[in-house]
Amino acid sequence: MNFISDSFSDVLIVGGGIIGLSLARKLHKKGVKKITILERGKLGQEASFAAAGMLAPQAETEKPDDFFHFCDESNKLYPNFAKELLDETGVDIELDKSGTLYLAFSERDVAEIRKRYEWQRDAGLQVEHLTAQEARKIEPFISPDVCEALFFPNDWQVENRKLLTALQKYAEINRIGIVESAEVKNLLIENGKTLSAETASQKFPAEKVILATGAWTSLIKSSENVPSLPNVRPIRGQMLSFHTAKRLLSKVIYSPRGYLVPRFDGRILAGATVEDVGFNKSVTQSGIDFLLENALEIAPSLVNLQLSEKWAGLRPFASDGLPILGTFPEIENLFTATAHYRNGILLAPLTAEILADKIAENFDSKYLEVFSPLRFAAARAICK
Ligand SMILES: Cc1cc2nc3c(=O)[nH]c(=O)nc-3n(C[C@H](O)[C@H](O)[C@H](O)COP(=O)(O)OP(=O)(O)OC[C@H]3O[C@@H](n4cnc5c(N)ncnc54)[C@H](O)[C@@H]3O)c2cc1C
Repeated sequence: MNFISDSFSDVLIVGGGIIGLSLARKLHKKGVKKITILERGKLGQEASFAAAGMLAPQAETEKPDDFFHFCDESNKLYPNFAKELLDETGVDIELDKSGTLYLAFSERDVAEIRKRYEWQRDAGLQVEHLTAQEARKIEPFISPDVCEALFFPNDWQVENRKLLTALQKYAEINRIGIVESAEVKNLLIENGKTLSAETASQKFPAEKVILATGAWTSLIKSSENVPSLPNVRPIRGQMLSFHTAKRLLSKVIYSPRGYLVPRFDGRILAGATVEDVGFNKSVTQSGIDFLLENALEIAPSLVNLQLSEKWAGLRPFASDGLPILGTFPEIENLFTATAHYRNGILLAPLTAEILADKIAENFDSKYLEVFSPLRFAAARAICK
């Protein structure tokens, strides 16, 4: 799908995953006129499509730090995000607020979930400590070997593929420019200002440019040296899904080794591997074996179910595992929103909000400082 209203954009977004698409919507809602998304392949077919759609601040974080608060605040935006998208596009993104169970199967797991329980209780979060019987009463299909469990009522899930459909539809309805099969190779920067993003055959001039390029961010070159350009690398995640005629589980279920995500259509997603193998999206037999082992540990009765799909995606990872958001001191009109690693679906609404506030209204969220690309430039200077 290629639609572009004019060759000059007020804001050019490089990358059409959940982050680029959410940003385009938010900027449009704030009144930015000419927005263009340049996408290397097709919109929304990379990490954002591969994801499990869990919105899990309490299962995914280890302490009540800035990252936890960023996750938690973004999660709280989801009910409104889902409602608005339904009104705007007619697409139901299937926000499911049934909560998440976190299971322990060994002494080591028990120690881990008790530690998690304590920091979350001390931080005033909603978390329940359950006996094995209580957990199995909530989810009868989980293994009889479970020792104990936590329940997070505020860790939810969304159908991320429908979310991508909704965001793409929003872009189309509102005539946001979309150019697919357009891989940006280089940023043309002169005297500290980005003039255009360049593919092999075309230049796209713009007033402001945002890199929302996920795992591929570090491959983009620039005509002037930008010391704080983000260093991001791909971390492969393999997933599979089982087909069931009716929903066997009511909640997302974690163990310290994997997770199951039941969808409304009866599929149960099982994830995910975490592999540092470069830009390689293959599904491997060892990956599938690992996923099956962890899925069957959680719910042994899945053994009888048919596998319906296997896939892999590349999570964008920065060296400290945190998102990279904001501006570059050397370049006045260049922005980035990348490195969301395991939580880009969860973090999309707040990422879009704070970047759009900065770009459209020059308002600085505290998170732009916490997750600034400059943190790496400072570290590099110390290392010299
Ligand atoms: C298996 C798996 C499970 C996951 N589960 C969850 C989960 O349950 N919950 C959660 O919150 N997160 C989850 N994640 C993480 C989440 O998917 C990512 O953090 C998120 O999708 C990142 O979004 P993005 O838009 O930055 O990246 P992407 O979706 O990868 O989009 C980046 C886009 O930029 C394009 N692009 C790159 N370079 C260029 C270029 N030079 N020119 C033009 N276009 C370019 C790419 O083609 C791509 O479409 C999971 C990830 C994986 C792989």
